[in-house]
Amino acid sequence: VTGRLIFAANWKMHLGPDGARRFFDAFLPAYAPRADREVWFFPPAVSLPAAAAAIHGRADIRAGAQDVHWERSGAFTGEVSAELAREAGATLALVGHSERRQVFGETDDMAARKLRSILAAGLTPLLCVGETLAERQNSQTIAVVQRQLGVALAGLEPSALGRVVLAYEPVWAIGTGHNATPAEAGQVHREIRTLMAAHGGPGRARVLYGGSVRRANVRELLAEPELDGVLVGGASLDAAEWAAIVQSSVTPR
Ligand code: PEP
Repeated sequence: VTGRLIFAANWKMHLGPDGARRFFDAFLPAYAPRADREVWFFPPAVSLPAAAAAIHGRADIRAGAQDVHWERSGAFTGEVSAELAREAGATLALVGHSERRQVFGETDDMAARKLRSILAAGLTPLLCVGETLAERQNSQTIAVVQRQLGVALAGLEPSALGRVVLAYEPVWAIGTGHNATPAEAGQVHREIRTLMAAHGGPGRARVLYGGSVRRANVRELLAEPELDGVLVGGASLDAAEWAAIVQSSVTPR
């Protein structure tokens, strides 16, 4: 799959099973498979079976969990493990999204444990890293990304590292309407690739950009060759808007 662009939709706490079915009823006829790209969906856990059923037979479209617990099963009321998500239809899982870190107090160490459980369950992880506005203003961007990645990737075998897809999501750009410029994102993506390689991972890890991506700016962002795709929140909730975004004309990687 390397070389294919990834358009990833993070629905956050929106679209239950009925909403998800309605979304795919509108989206699937509007989007024919394209050889150069994949479309990934992260619906709420309760909508995973509906999403998985809707995309059945579309090898270019995948669905995954927005978060997982690090244990396989047990007395963890309210939690969903990677194994359970897989059983519900997930082949992917987000890990370390800034809302998990900021709103729910997820630490680098928790994200690292979750990443291991996602790999153990055979799912593809999409690991999110990124700095806050204060950290950027204090020139801490690279240090923060380095710390988040360092903890998450420590001790993973090269074969596991090769399965990890990354997302650079500056916290100040998420849901704010203020996206990073292609150059700002590109610079951090290069750094992330260098760090991944330094940990023994692939020379060119796949790195998506996330933060206020929409129809109006997606082409400009993807013109930057350091971006292997985008992770989109708000603009992924409307089937027509999302269909327009995933059909953006982009120079092949
Ligand atoms: C996200 O939730 O990962 C995200 C990037 O959100 P938005 O596109 O709404 O900024």
